[in-house]
Amino acid sequence: MSPTEAILNNSAVADTPAAARPDDFAHFDNYVMTTYGRFPIAIERGEGCRLWDTEGREYLDFVAGIATCTLGHAHPAMVAAATRQIQKLHHVSNFYYIPQQGDLAQWIVDRSCADRVFFCSSGAEANEAAIKLARKYAHTVLDIKYPTILTAQKSFHGRTLATITATAQPKYQENFDPLVPGFAYVPYNDITALEDAIGDIDEGDRRVGAILIEPLQGEGGVRPGDLDYFLRLRKICDETGILLICDEVQTGVGRTGKYWGYENLGIEPDIFTSAKGLAGGIPIGAMACKRSCDVFEPGNHASTFGGNPFACAVALAVGQTIEREDLLTNARARGEQLRTRLRAIAQQRPDVFVDVRGWGLIDGMEIAEEAELTSIEVVKAAMERGLLIAPAGPKVLRFVPPLTVSAEDIDRAADILTEVLDANYAR
Ligand SMILES: *Cc1c(COP(=O)(O)O)cnc(C)c1O
Repeated sequence: MSPTEAILNNSAVADTPAAARPDDFAHFDNYVMTTYGRFPIAIERGEGCRLWDTEGREYLDFVAGIATCTLGHAHPAMVAAATRQIQKLHHVSNFYYIPQQGDLAQWIVDRSCADRVFFCSSGAEANEAAIKLARKYAHTVLDIKYPTILTAQKSFHGRTLATITATAQPKYQENFDPLVPGFAYVPYNDITALEDAIGDIDEGDRRVGAILIEPLQGEGGVRPGDLDYFLRLRKICDETGILLICDEVQTGVGRTGKYWGYENLGIEPDIFTSAKGLAGGIPIGAMACKRSCDVFEPGNHASTFGGNPFACAVALAVGQTIEREDLLTNARARGEQLRTRLRAIAQQRPDVFVDVRGWGLIDGMEIAEEAELTSIEVVKAAMERGLLIAPAGPKVLRFVPPLTVSAEDIDRAADILTEVLDANYAR
């Protein structure tokens, strides 16, 4: 027996059964800082689009770790890649060349408008890298002394200081001031407001250096970008030299039915960021850019965990599986099916639901402002009936299942949602 097998065979180490742990959420809350409002369940195991909690209850997973578990749970390709790589080499410093990192960078470059990639471990960190690159580009190429980065209202870019500043939502910023200078906000999908903002900021040494924007706003309520808006936005950037940065942390890696969200808008950004779905739930982040804006030099930026062999090997396996299983086609077809079902549900309750929208498998259902119903209430009721969905703000239900979701799973989710609404909120 190998040492690994010996350890795995020792059940005390291998798999502490949930029942042996204090089955008490208060115990957890006693030790873990309360930065999250948690639902009172603990997930123990997953397979495909199914999850089981510590009480043995089964759930259909339309959250996927918030648009992260691209291949669902325990996908054999991920298990094999992770096992193979951890048995060989899981982490090594960026002091050295990391072949898996090079292969993953090429995978991204071959399937996007970018030429070069930097790796880190999360979405916020990828956006930080993009912000730093854009600032250096503004200083050294555009010759702007005080560059401003424009972002959109209702956006979400992460929880670090620079990215909460970029996130134009007061609830994420309150009590964390002073915020990072050099950001200004514009309404989403409003080209006149954008032109005005660029004009207003342009004064002396102060100019707009970059625009950081989601192709479809995820946390802000599953709001797709407008085609005309993004075409004009791209044109403004071309004419002025302002960099266009797309935050693809939630929309990237096939989620929208295309590799990248910007492909739905007929434009190419100068820089884009990725994280959530890239390694299917293993922590990774990436910032990709055109060769022309790669102004980083050795020592400018770094990340200890960034692009380690383990995360990159798993991300490559996720990418290969997206292709082998034709998951872009599945994301488009299942998304269409889901939105058709959600529209039928919404039409039966016109006083409750006002919109169904989305691309591929990032879809939202908006509850009327006047309706006495919040997204959290529906999320809780659905959870009790075995369907996990996520809120995107107080009035939007978000559906982001694994890209492997089947037609039967989509129908089952829509059936459960119908039951929830029939049982709790009479028509
Ligand atoms: C989730 C998210 C982030 C932040 O990613 P983390 O990995 O939590 O830091 C940034 N931008 C968008 C669009 C996101 O959805």
